[in-house]
Amino acid sequence: MTSLAIAANGLRKSYGDKVVLDAIDLAVPEGTVFSLLGPNGAGKTTVVKILSTLVTADDGDLRVGGHDLGADPQAVRAAIGVTGQFSAVDGLITGEENMLLMADLHHLTRAEGRRVAARLLERFDLVEAAKKPASTYSGGMKRRLDIAMTLVGSPRIIFLDEPTTGLDPRSRHTMWQIIRELVRDGVTVFLTTQYLEEADELADRIAVLNDGRIAAEGTADELKRLIPGGHIRLRFTDPGAHRTAASALRQVTEVTSDDENLALRIPSDGSQHALRSLLDRLDTAGIEADELTVHTPDLDDVFFALTGTAEVPRPQSEPDQPKENVR
Ligand code: ADP
Repeated sequence: MTSLAIAANGLRKSYGDKVVLDAIDLAVPEGTVFSLLGPNGAGKTTVVKILSTLVTADDGDLRVGGHDLGADPQAVRAAIGVTGQFSAVDGLITGEENMLLMADLHHLTRAEGRRVAARLLERFDLVEAAKKPASTYSGGMKRRLDIAMTLVGSPRIIFLDEPTTGLDPRSRHTMWQIIRELVRDGVTVFLTTQYLEEADELADRIAVLNDGRIAAEGTADELKRLIPGGHIRLRFTDPGAHRTAASALRQVTEVTSDDENLALRIPSDGSQHALRSLLDRLDTAGIEADELTVHTPDLDDVFFALTGTAEVPRPQSEPDQPKENVR
């Protein structure tokens, strides 16, 4: 059995009358990426603040890096790194000075500090910027510096609170690459995000937080299987063909008609067998659809179904991905 980097049982937190976390359980195996996904205000940052010892929980059995949060917060602090909305980067000094300051905090010798700083600045492509004040850095560079600073202490567990919020697509992909490399080195990553795509891309396991509770937990594939939503969509240009197809198919299967778009939606698992029997049926009835698309449920569907949130944030400056996958 692999040991757990993070284990929370019955984690509770309220602010006044407001229950923010209502007895949630989390288990994150060492060396994996765990993503806590949820709409704004779901309580994600509160979880990170509690697990990283910045805020105390009202109740719960909480262990991070094998240490009890209540009994030994110092040991937890020594095992973790935190980056995110409360960034440690000081804008007034240079990137290199930020790194050296961090090395001092971790009691590295001067020579060791310089060596570690140089290696990390190189790794995160910040050598050229190293002598410039951090306030002149772009958003992506600041996040890279923030992670580099976190790594000075060689933490085995890293909390990343919405690490790519506000970044352009290129910087986001660089950040994903960095996260993958951390995991390859054996680091455990606890990642909060509002972006389904990000959780799908990076996480071994995902928990959907909604209204202070874990609405679902599993791999991306397991979550997708939780909800129905797979269907085949047929589109027509001729209203007559649309009508004929609807009545022919209704004799053998459930059909939802989208009259405005001259489309039909037939529930389906999208398998080859299902597709063939539908095509046979259309052939027999002499019907030719103008377009056929297979829709498999994605994390968006899961998110809608579990959180009832209609507004799923999308990374800025990227066109919405079409939900229908044409096979
Ligand atoms: P998320 O990170 O998912 O957006 P947060 O953890 O920041 O959510 O917040 C969850 C809820 O807890 C919100 O309703 C927020 O207003 C409330 N909250 C967070 N911190 C405090 C605080 N210090 N005092 C009062 N309410 C808070």
